[in-house]
Amino acid sequence: MKVLKFGGTSVGSARRIKEVANLITGRGTNIIVLSAMSGTTNTLVEIADYLYKGNTNGAREIINSLEKRYATVMEELFASGEYLAAARERLSEFFHHLRSFTRDGFTVTEEKEILAQGELMSTTLMDLYLHEQGFNSVWLPALEFMRTDTDGEADSDYIAQHLQPMLDSHPDADLFITQGFICRNSKGEIDNLQRGGSDLTASLIGGALLAEEIEIWTDIDGMHNNDPRFVEQTEPVHELHFDEAAELAYFGAKILHPTCVMPARMNNIPIRVLNTMEPEARGTLIYNTVHSRSIKAVAAKDNVIAIKIKSSRMLLASGFIHRVFEIFDNYHRPIDMIATSEVGISVTIDNPLKLEHIIDELKEIGTVTIDYDMVIICVVGDLEWHNRGFEAKAVDALRDIPVRMISYGGSNRNISFLVKKEDKVKALKALSEHLFLN
Ligand code: ADP
Ligand code: ASP
Ligand code: MG
Repeated sequence: MKVLKFGGTSVGSARRIKEVANLITGRGTNIIVLSAMSGTTNTLVEIADYLYKGNTNGAREIINSLEKRYATVMEELFASGEYLAAARERLSEFFHHLRSFTRDGFTVTEEKEILAQGELMSTTLMDLYLHEQGFNSVWLPALEFMRTDTDGEADSDYIAQHLQPMLDSHPDADLFITQGFICRNSKGEIDNLQRGGSDLTASLIGGALLAEEIEIWTDIDGMHNNDPRFVEQTEPVHELHFDEAAELAYFGAKILHPTCVMPARMNNIPIRVLNTMEPEARGTLIYNTVHSRSIKAVAAKDNVIAIKIKSSRMLLASGFIHRVFEIFDNYHRPIDMIATSEVGISVTIDNPLKLEHIIDELKEIGTVTIDYDMVIICVVGDLEWHNRGFEAKAVDALRDIPVRMISYGGSNRNISFLVKKEDKVKALKALSEHLFLN
């Protein structure tokens, strides 16, 4: 059994839904994970925003135009009156539910429920379409098996225990359709796996069922060697090690959710990134292989904050570092990059939550300097330290760009540079030119 995930653009119109139906049928009883149709989750975020601001009418207007879009999709998708009527009835229930939210008592819990409707709708449409085409598709409710624990991490045991019996109870299924992104938290409330989380859903399902492979179908022919949104002439990388893909995803390659490689890697399940618009393209295979001595790709992570703490020398060096880490740990703020010297330490974080409290406590042990709007540029490949010259090449590419921090040696897989936001594109382009284009 394989897990096949299709992103928002891949199911973004009636035509695309039909194309995906062609790709998923006749390939065995696989599990299909769908995102919401493109633009839907953003629209749902906007609806919630109006409700937070107390403007129920504003929210209703957006709901109305979203409903119109889905009405057109349904008309184009279904050939028979029977299925069109069934789809209209099902979707009207979702829109009725969306209209039931008002500004009164609107909290983050209600927002999560609103956000969940996109994946519920796309999977409902696909499931009905497959039935119309004569397939015995089974709609699996992700809210009944996808869970996070008290730390907000995926609860793998719960997922495995609840998913397998659901599959077993449908021995005649041709294929299973389920929702990406959505889950319940440890309190049983509707929640999600963060934006872009459908990739993580696919990987978690793959891990729970020990699937043969996880396919991530998207709108580009694999993981490219640089960010195609900022750099021209990027190329797909045909093979990546799990660790390389994990670094790239975590450090900004939007094509994969930041943490989605982990469940697949833990169970040694290959991930294949493929293009829905070009199904024959080779894509990227992510598995347990190393192509030695090569730099594979570059990615950039935005909105990074750098914090430098110069010791006031009241603590011994080791006690100082311990105290710094303890402060970040107490506020559950993971650190991405670290650079140390005799007199101080620089670290980066990617979330300003509770930053003022962190700074107040750091000021008790040293002098604190903060740089906002920084970007981590991450160079990934087999960068084992005995292989000479890789660091030099990457550093040389950035010779005209001010670099605030460098991190190398944390693993054999990456070198990270911290630069200003305004230098990001220049840095990405320079790295492509020096590392891949000559
Ligand atoms: P989906 O909706 O299928 O999940 P996403 O928009 O989340 O698709 O991810 C695909 C997009 O990721 C691509 O269209 C591309 O613009 C962007 N992207 C960023 N970095 C990379 C990269 N290194 N390789 C390929 N695509 C990338
Ligand atoms: N629909 C969600 C989002 O737009 C999840 C996903 O697409 O992976 O973020
Ligand atoms: Mg995505």
